Amino acid sequence: MNALEVSNLAFAYGARQALQDLSFRVEPGSFAALLGPNGAGKSTLIALLTRLYHLQQGDIQVMGNSLGQQPRQALRQLGVVFQQSTLDLDLSVEQNLRYHAALHGLAKAQAKVRIDEELARQQLDERRHEKVRALNGGHRRRVEIARALLHRPRLLLLDEASAGLDPASRLALNRHVRQLCRDQGLAVLWTTHLLDEVQASDELLILNRGRLVAQGPAQRIGADDASLAATFARLTGAEELA
Ligand code: ADP
Ligand code: MG
Repeated sequence: MNALEVSNLAFAYGARQALQDLSFRVEPGSFAALLGPNGAGKSTLIALLTRLYHLQQGDIQVMGNSLGQQPRQALRQLGVVFQQSTLDLDLSVEQNLRYHAALHGLAKAQAKVRIDEELARQQLDERRHEKVRALNGGHRRRVEIARALLHRPRLLLLDEASAGLDPASRLALNRHVRQLCRDQGLAVLWTTHLLDEVQASDELLILNRGRLVAQGPAQRIGADDASLAATFARLTGAEELA
């Protein structure tokens, strides 16, 4: 069974076609990088995967559950970190998580256990009583990851989670999520417009103007960083990095 299976997905905003003929899968425990320039359709895809938008065409299955037909079962297997942070800056780390646990219907005692667990996993236990406002960007993102994992999904979606972070925090966050993927057997769909967040061992999906223009093991698409950069530039018209 695949963690995620997207079949013949298409989506339009009125007359504007945002996604066309998208098919791909993400296997359990694998790290998939969805790479595409601004406007490629990454956030539109995340909105469809999280059911913020209704399916117009095609099908999405999460751990074998169709999002159209068994939305609750499908959504239960899925955790998400949206492009725009959705934390309350004036609540503490723990309060943000507690609120979310309640939304998921976790009983108080169970919520406490899960919050302790996730904060430890994200190395945030010592920050739990601080307001989110006091945390730096990388730590705020980790709070969002902890929150996304409270209900123990099998698939984690991150939409440009590293955008706006300084280069060191950006790569630290990327490494951190890879570690979770390895240690927890979590499937990850990591969207980005930055090539240096892709590693040779990733399943790579290159999205341009709503279409997948390449998909497969990153090392096959570009034998090394330089040729992956060239391939990305050729396929998307993006300027090649010097
Ligand atoms: P990305 O996340 O890759 O930057 P988006 O999914 O945000 O791309 O956008 C894909 C395309 O859809 C872009 O051309 C964008 O202008 C368009 N688009 C996004 N949101 C809307 C919307 N609410 N209404 C109309 N067009 C939109
Ligand atoms: Mg986006």
